[in-house]
Amino acid sequence: MEKSLMWFRRDLRLQDNPALFHAFKKENVIAFYITDHEFNSIHGVSMAQQNFILEGIELLKADLQKLNILFLSLEVEKTNDIPAVILNILSKEKISHLFFNKEYEVDEKIRDESVVHLAKENNISVMTFHDQTMFPPGTIKTGEGKMFKVFTAFKNAWLKHFNQFPFSLFEMPHPPTLSKKVYEKKTDWPAGEVEAHHRLEHFINTCLNVYEQVRDFPALDHTSKLSPYLTTGMISLRECFLKTYDHKSKGAETWRNELIWREFYKHILEATPRVSMNKPFLLITEKIKWDNDEIKLIAWKNGQTGIPIVDAAMRQLNQTGWMHNRLRMITAMFFTKNLWLDWRVGEAYFMSRLIDGDFAANNGGWQWCASTGTDAAPYFRIFNPVTQSERFDPEGNFIRAYCPELKDFNNKSIHAPYERAPLLAQASGYPAPIVNLKETRAHAIKAFSALMKFA
Ligand code: FAD
Repeated sequence: MEKSLMWFRRDLRLQDNPALFHAFKKENVIAFYITDHEFNSIHGVSMAQQNFILEGIELLKADLQKLNILFLSLEVEKTNDIPAVILNILSKEKISHLFFNKEYEVDEKIRDESVVHLAKENNISVMTFHDQTMFPPGTIKTGEGKMFKVFTAFKNAWLKHFNQFPFSLFEMPHPPTLSKKVYEKKTDWPAGEVEAHHRLEHFINTCLNVYEQVRDFPALDHTSKLSPYLTTGMISLRECFLKTYDHKSKGAETWRNELIWREFYKHILEATPRVSMNKPFLLITEKIKWDNDEIKLIAWKNGQTGIPIVDAAMRQLNQTGWMHNRLRMITAMFFTKNLWLDWRVGEAYFMSRLIDGDFAANNGGWQWCASTGTDAAPYFRIFNPVTQSERFDPEGNFIRAYCPELKDFNNKSIHAPYERAPLLAQASGYPAPIVNLKETRAHAIKAFSALMKFA
């Protein structure tokens, strides 16, 4: 009897999992996941995400058992040990087919190529599938066959493709369902695909159609909070897209555009592998001499910069493992343009803390804010964090939630305490701003415009 082996990676689900779907067509399936300690350490994967994955694996194991699929949870100290570990299962279990979904980062590709090579040497057929995106990276191209560099053009081509090639989901028999009896939320981020579906449904019923109006206000907390589930594959992008497709509101359209942004950054990885190797998308920006100021870096990490919206956001990240999108943009732009620190250092810190840390989205987001990326924020359009704060946290409720020192400030002074209520600020124990926003902004614009003369 033929036996198949399914390798789970960032696709920790049964529903709409192309590799699992095809493996399951064979009679006898064994599944496994490998925790790679070297990978986690080199790539700075946060403890929050590592624990989330471990919890997800336990749930997956139980769900697979119901389908009579044996699940092995393995560990390696070194990435290079993975091919041998897999070969061991292949030969011990007399496997004929290996199935997995593709990953697009450089290190992951090298690892997968060595596994495929070894499997083929041993006459095992290897079946790989595209899963993280709706269209395989590299397939949405300009008329000249090049990768799009501008998101809107990419999105339009993407939507055209979508209308030409209808999608359906890879349905598994007996997908896991929510048992009301056992379903009890113990953390803010319960793992698993049941929770992911629950969140999607809740979001569709409550916020989807007004998303465009509410998404930028962190105190409202009205985004889907699906990012950890998408990053670890506890839900698929296809499912999120298709389940909302019948909603034609502006809100729903805006939300689906965010999913296309996610896809855009995966396509960039494939087209520009250097972004996986610590290089900027815009090579000219390698010439920038970022400051190396440990004191400013520590203040930013700890939420002690004296700019309330930045500090509240960094404390949200440190305390919860997640940060609202508007705040990711504000903190990353402040980091690069006002503190003049290297975006790669900020990118790594986010990764070490985020439960949803995803290389493509994080790298794309940081390079957007640093003006080093594709379709990035123009270097002269620098967010003023105080103005952003007034606009997106007008009553200061988000700031108060994470900066209790500022709870007694009124709705105006809370955004700039030392400027607007200096005596109260000095008594509050809250730090004074570590940089002058106006001067640092001018410095950033001057440095970038000097650089662009050579572009
Ligand atoms: P929603 O607003 O409900 O959006 C739905 C989904 O769309 C998200 O779950 C996400 O998958 C996708 N999405 C939304 N905005 C973006 C975006 N700008 N780029 C790419 N995909 C997007 N997202 C990550 O998943 N992992 C990261 O490590 C990450 N790092 C980021 C770093 C910076 C500096 C910036 C500016 C953005 C980053 N993002 C990252 C994108 C975005 O901030 C998060 O996806 C979003 O905040 C997650 O919350 P949500 O699930 O409630 O999103």
